[in-house]
Amino acid sequence: QREEALKKADMDAETADGKRMQVFANIGSPSDVDQAIANGAEGIGLFRTEFLYLENDNWPTEEEQTQAYSRVLKAFGDKPVVIRTLDIGGDKDLPYANLPTEENPFLGHRAIRYCLANPEIFKTQLKALLRSSIHGDLWIMLPMVENLSEIREAKALLAECRTELMQSNIPIADSIKVGIMVEVPAAAIYADVLAKEVDFMSIGTNDLTQYTLAADRGNEQVAHLYDAAHPAVLRLVKKTCDAAREAGIVAGMCGELAGDSQMTEILIGLGLDELSMSAGAIPEIKEKIRPLHSESAQKLAEEALRQESPEAVRQLVQSQLVK
Ligand code: PEP
Ligand code: MG
Repeated sequence: QREEALKKADMDAETADGKRMQVFANIGSPSDVDQAIANGAEGIGLFRTEFLYLENDNWPTEEEQTQAYSRVLKAFGDKPVVIRTLDIGGDKDLPYANLPTEENPFLGHRAIRYCLANPEIFKTQLKALLRSSIHGDLWIMLPMVENLSEIREAKALLAECRTELMQSNIPIADSIKVGIMVEVPAAAIYADVLAKEVDFMSIGTNDLTQYTLAADRGNEQVAHLYDAAHPAVLRLVKKTCDAAREAGIVAGMCGELAGDSQMTEILIGLGLDELSMSAGAIPEIKEKIRPLHSESAQKLAEEALRQESPEAVRQLVQSQLVK
């Protein structure tokens, strides 16, 4: 089965009634690009840039970052490459950043919050992104956004970087998309407001699940509570997709749920346009998409939203398979 799926990995993933789904890869370093392409990735839906910072013992320079981002963009040509800005804090420590010890690091000074508070560090990354933009189709993604000002402030810094680079005659692409991760419940709940300020939204179910269910994603003692198939999480996914459709922007998902083959039909029914996952999962998910029908997927999704528990959602999927 896996071999069959691999043979067709390079083909598009379109449902039986013609809805085209984008299936992208999550990567953590430029060296992951080959595997992504070999598995049929039609783009990168999440490039976690933390590695660049973690493998160094000091802040990576604009030049070093430009090289890394350019390498990925070049490999994908005119296909979208979503690069996420620095997401440290929470469980991701960075020794030389001297992050203060926090009582609740996941609720603390992390990701976009850290970047906006340290504009010089953020601007170095934004400039590197702008400089690499001429090599492909760059989509910049902000992590952990929970309000509109964060987006506006980040965009203002991006504009500042653009002006500064242009003053030095450095070429930059015109069409760079700016979007956010929806991984904090607030962002999903008022996604309609945020959607007006961005070009795309990508749902990070790993954090969205942890914050919605108040269950630490790395704590084994609450692991039995942590399931992205919880109807409460799925309702937030639906809300986000509805807001994206209303605003005419792309709704993607780059958390683990996107690569969960049990959930593919429901995710399509909820209205996602793009799913991004670890490269190895791509061929199977594409295979899963091909025989589906949008209308029945939508019905199944609606039924999933009404379930009482994640177990009930998964059972619902199982019962579909038997039919
Ligand atoms: C997520 O939170 O779902 C996500 C994709 O980001 P990370 O796993 O890097 O926190
Ligand atoms: Mg996250």
